[in-house]
Amino acid sequence: MTAILETRQLHKHFGGLSAVADVSITVMAGEIHCLIGPNGAGKSTLFKLVAGTYAPSQGEVLFRGEDVTRRKPYERVGRGMSIKLQVPSVFRELPVAQNLEISLQRTCRGAAMEAEKARLLEFLQLQDDAGKPAGFLAHGQQQWLEIGMALALQPTLLLLDEPTAGMSPQETERTGEMIKSLNAQGMTVLVVEHDMTFVRQIAQRITVLHLGRVFAQGSTDEVIADPRVEEIYLGK
Ligand code: ADP
Ligand code: MG
Repeated sequence: MTAILETRQLHKHFGGLSAVADVSITVMAGEIHCLIGPNGAGKSTLFKLVAGTYAPSQGEVLFRGEDVTRRKPYERVGRGMSIKLQVPSVFRELPVAQNLEISLQRTCRGAAMEAEKARLLEFLQLQDDAGKPAGFLAHGQQQWLEIGMALALQPTLLLLDEPTAGMSPQETERTGEMIKSLNAQGMTVLVVEHDMTFVRQIAQRITVLHLGRVFAQGSTDEVIADPRVEEIYLGK
C-alpha cells in the first residue's frame, strides 16, 4: 500500500488559537479513511489545509508523493484532489444540471460533458430534479449535488466534510453505498463524520483529532476498541 496523502507536522494558528497542531496523518491509496473527533477538534481546518484553502502556519502536505504545500487549490484539483466542504455551497438559483455543468466544464466538453452529466445525475439519484433550482432540493439531496460537483472534477482523492449532516437514516445509508461504490472503482475517500455507526460501516482506517492534535490513528477495529476514544468522543 502506498500513501496518497500525507501531512507532516501541520500547524494552523488563528491568532492565539491552535486549530491544528502538529498533525501528521497518512491516507493510503485506495482506502476509505474517516476523520473523527468532537466539535472544534480541527477537522474542517485540516481539510482546508489539505485542499489549499488555508496555508499552514507550519508543516507540509504531500499528495501523490509531491509536496503541494505551496500549490493553489486549483493546482491541487488538477493533480486529482477534490473537496466537498462542510458549509453547503451549491448555486441555489441555478438548476441542478447547471450546477454540475459548472464543475464539469473543468474536465470535459460537448458530448462527453452531456454523458458525464447524465451519469452523475443517475448516480446521485437526481435525474427527476435536474431542472429544479438547487435551492429547492431537500437538504440531503443538496449534499448529494455537492458530492456530484466534487466528483465532476474526476478526483483520485475525494474529501467529504460531514456528507451526511442533516440526512435521514435512508439518505445516510444511500450515501454510504455511494462512497463504497466510488471506492470499489478505485477512488480514495477521506470523510469527516460524526455518525459512528456510519463510520464503522464504511471506514477501513480512522484518525481521531482532539483539540487540534492527532489523538489516535489506526484500523477501524483498533480505534473503535480504544476506550480513550470513546471518552473524548462522547465528552465523558
Ligand atoms: P471541527 O471541524 O473539528 O469542528 P474546526 O476546524 O472547524 O473544527 O475548528 C477548529 C477550531 O478552530 C475551533 O475552535 C474553531 O472555532 C476555530 N476556527 C476555525 N476556523 C476559524 C477561522 N477561520 N478563524 C478563527 N478560528 C477558527
Ligand atoms: Mg467541521
